[in-house]
Amino acid sequence: MAHEVFNWQINRKMTYWYPEHRPGRQFAAVFDINKCIACQTCSLACKTTWTSGKGQELMFWNNVETKPWGGYPTAWDVKILGLLGPQKWGEDEYEGMTVFEAAPKGERVLQYQPEDGDWCNVNLGEDECSKVIEKGAYFKLPHDAWFFYLQRICNHCTYPACLTACPRGAIYKRQEDGVVLIDQKQCRGHRECLKACPYKRIFFNVVTGTSEKCIACFPGLESGKCNRCFETCIGKIRLQGWISTPEKAREDNPIDFLVHIRKVALPLYPQFGTEPNVYYIPPKQVDPVFLRQMFGPGVDKAIATYRNAKNDPELLGLLLLQGSSDRIFERFRVKNGMAIGYTAKGAEVVRVPLKEPLYVRPYKDVALDVFRHNVT
Ligand code: SF4
Ligand code: SF4
Repeated sequence: MAHEVFNWQINRKMTYWYPEHRPGRQFAAVFDINKCIACQTCSLACKTTWTSGKGQELMFWNNVETKPWGGYPTAWDVKILGLLGPQKWGEDEYEGMTVFEAAPKGERVLQYQPEDGDWCNVNLGEDECSKVIEKGAYFKLPHDAWFFYLQRICNHCTYPACLTACPRGAIYKRQEDGVVLIDQKQCRGHRECLKACPYKRIFFNVVTGTSEKCIACFPGLESGKCNRCFETCIGKIRLQGWISTPEKAREDNPIDFLVHIRKVALPLYPQFGTEPNVYYIPPKQVDPVFLRQMFGPGVDKAIATYRNAKNDPELLGLLLLQGSSDRIFERFRVKNGMAIGYTAKGAEVVRVPLKEPLYVRPYKDVALDVFRHNVT
């Protein structure tokens, strides 16, 4: 029987198969799309840690795809959006249907099963522009043609579609951290979860005959360590922590600050209704119409706030702290030109300066009798 639950991302009640139950604390992440260089270090860090076994050859719990043309599995977003059809955001809330509300009679979720071939092209569309760039047009701002990278892991949703679809009850959400896991002993490989996840973050292992997914590196998470894809990120685009519901948001909680206070980080396809817990700072140089369908109506304000970061020491400080430690910091503050991250108990984890010191060397090194060039 369907229950009525509250989803703050769409700012309204919606139907879900189980009653509302939020974990003691909820794993969350913020990815700054503007900083990603698609080096795929994150994808490989995850792969070498968790999915290098037999049957996992085409499995990427973390992948980075190029928008607008890329997608893994192929066209996952186009397909589910096509099924959902045109929907509408109102002034304060989402007025369309979620994947739960749009489910056909007799099913719990609006869903589709990817074809086997859809898993074979993890880098399809990589670095392809939205359209052909006319000669000289790349000097214009905003750019006519654009692309950007979208980093994807499981969203460890508050209302997981995968969990609701499993006929074996093999999927569960942990009370201690909100991480969504598949009990490998319970799973019989029906792949209903894979069909139901609108983000297509479940993978089938043909050797074990079970479904697998991102586990949020929980063995490390339990001792305050960042996930592998976070700690290895070359672009320092990733911030890991815990998110509160809006009414409990704390200014000194890094994730709350970016999501609830400054509202600079937004959920991916909030209209699906699963309340995903990975948030994105949208890219500045991309057509806002495209971004609004992905991240909802908060895009324009988020980009304006992000552009103003240089005049906002707290936001600037937190953006500089992002990716600066392999330990999770749960509190932060900015003082005396330094941004500092702390554990929940107040122990310092990391500090970075708001402004890097600049050293200018003499052009002529008299001692060595050589000339040097200063480069920045
Ligand atoms: S490691 Fe970081 S910068 Fe490199 S692709 Fe992954 S998210 Fe992007
Ligand atoms: S992103 Fe998909 S696999 Fe992950 S919790 Fe949400 S519905 Fe489940």
